[in-house]
Amino acid sequence: MDESNRALARRLSILGSTGSIGTQTLDIVRLFPERFQVVALTGGSNASLLIEQAFQFKPSLVAIGDVAQYKQVAEALAGTGIRVVAGEEGLKEAAAHPEAEVVVAAVVGFAGLAPVLEAIRAGKVIALANKETLVVAGALIQEWIARYKATLIPVDSEHSAIFQCLVGESMDWVESLILTASGGPFRTRPLETFAQITPEEALRHPNWSMGAKITIDSATMMNKGLEVIEAHWLFNIPVERIEVLVHPQSIVHSMVTFRDGSVKAQLGLPDMRIPIQYALTYPERWEAHHPRINWSQLRQLEFEAPDMQRFPCLRLAYQALEAGGVAPAVLNAANEEAVQLFLEGRIGFMDIPRWIEGALEQIPLQEARSLEDLQAVDSQTRQWIRELNPLPTD
Ligand code: NAD
Ligand code: MG
Repeated sequence: MDESNRALARRLSILGSTGSIGTQTLDIVRLFPERFQVVALTGGSNASLLIEQAFQFKPSLVAIGDVAQYKQVAEALAGTGIRVVAGEEGLKEAAAHPEAEVVVAAVVGFAGLAPVLEAIRAGKVIALANKETLVVAGALIQEWIARYKATLIPVDSEHSAIFQCLVGESMDWVESLILTASGGPFRTRPLETFAQITPEEALRHPNWSMGAKITIDSATMMNKGLEVIEAHWLFNIPVERIEVLVHPQSIVHSMVTFRDGSVKAQLGLPDMRIPIQYALTYPERWEAHHPRINWSQLRQLEFEAPDMQRFPCLRLAYQALEAGGVAPAVLNAANEEAVQLFLEGRIGFMDIPRWIEGALEQIPLQEARSLEDLQAVDSQTRQWIRELNPLPTD
């Protein structure tokens, strides 16, 4: 980048740059090389991709989550002037990087919470993909956002859609939010065969290509449950006014009903680069030639109510939000562990909701006021799930 443009570029710290959202964020940076500057990159365990990204984007800081891979990254980047750090402390340093204006939070799961809190404390604009952080710590995050004057801009396509529908509106005029859901790969599969669902089948999402965890969450519809909780905290709206509607084509990304009966929706092809770019350029829109909808070929847009019997995870998420306190943190930790066990082939598909429900019944729902309290609940729930000591399902 030419030095004269550097001062004008938006400076980004990308947490989780090696993942699905992270790599697509870098695709957007590549589209506008004069208008973005990457100052920090972080990865979890894919050291080789992180090193390759560092050579290409020349950030001043690189953090690798897996401490065991620190040496490999540090040696590869020796002599480049790039500072290399590791572990949770390293991620926190990237999140609060003094040069970063926008922090892209694209780590998956609870591991992203401490860095997001760090970015909030540093008063950053945060492009938030990591929905689990709001699920676990929504109240704490809202409190800190107000205290440190940080800003959250949603990346999740549904929340980006709602955010876009709300431009120029007041929340006082909103009657309800309608989150759309594709219904995932098992929307019409016979329910009696759900016990035989394999990880390979669950990893085949009909419309979106995403990381493994969120793909399984989409198959169980826990993803939509997490998004209901995310919407509650992002838009400060009671759960009774958040609806879920299954829309298999994934063209209408979500909608807002206003009190005069008018409805606004945001539409687009299922391409995460669009909401990612909007979060990075907000409040502007920059010209990009992502594929457009072909309206004459779009035969129909269908909508149907979600089937709570088929997708108990969605019901559990609503229940956890209504229970309040640490219930959503328990829900999230139990889900992360159960999804991992399912991916390893150690439990069945329908064990995922069963175990989450068990955790919600068994873990005492005390108050949690700090990150440390939430970390304790998270560990306790994970331990409870592991102590069930699952044997391979045969
Ligand atoms: P992913 O698994 O592809 O990438 C996750 C990133 O986080 C990787 O860079 C990984 O190295 C890093 N990471 C994982 N565990 C870590 C740890 N313990 N410490 C440090 N880094 C760690 O996931 P993804 O699909 O990109 O999703 C990221 C987040 O965005 C999730 O919260 C997901 O729900 C949300 N999201 C994703 C999509 C999508 O299309 N992929 C859409 C909407 C929301
Ligand atoms: Mg989404």
